[in-house]
Amino acid sequence: MGEAQSGSCNDFVEDCIFCTIASNQDKYTTIIKQNDELACFRDICPAAPHHYLVIPKQHIISCRSLQSTHVGLVERMAGMGRVVLHDRGITDMSDIRLGFHRPPYTSVDHLHLHVLAPASKISHFMLHKFTPGTDRFVNEDHLRRCLLKAAPKTSIRCASRKYMASLSHHIARWTKGRQAKENK
Ligand SMILES: [Zn+2]
Ligand SMILES: [Zn+2]
Repeated sequence: MGEAQSGSCNDFVEDCIFCTIASNQDKYTTIIKQNDELACFRDICPAAPHHYLVIPKQHIISCRSLQSTHVGLVERMAGMGRVVLHDRGITDMSDIRLGFHRPPYTSVDHLHLHVLAPASKISHFMLHKFTPGTDRFVNEDHLRRCLLKAAPKTSIRCASRKYMASLSHHIARWTKGRQAKENK
């Protein structure tokens, strides 16, 4: 079991409540919508008239475990959230909130997108938990932009190319200096 928990990404983690829900084994939770990759259900502690969670069926710990390759996953999670809201009669898509809690402000260590509507009716007492741009909460579109910027492989390649360029520049200068001395 320890082995299953060590990675940031697993198919199923035995004592994870969201893995249990995603595999339809939690009798207290009704899955509203699902496909091969994602599942959506009602938040147990709603902060707005509509409050759902969209989770990947694969166990990913949090938004901090995500990389640039996960941009599509985040997009699909948000897409399912919007469809669920639309199915439930929400028409004003400008008054919704889709986002993630940042660790350590996560209640369950299995990635979940909070889907709230109307955003203007988020409970006063819980608003601080769902305010974008804070240490606690990040909007899904903002997270996607961050993931794209973070693109690890590209930045490493750029850095090493820059480093090589400056290195060869230094070697050239050093060689010139030595030649000048020897010629004296
Ligand atoms: Zn899980
Ligand atoms: Zn949460």
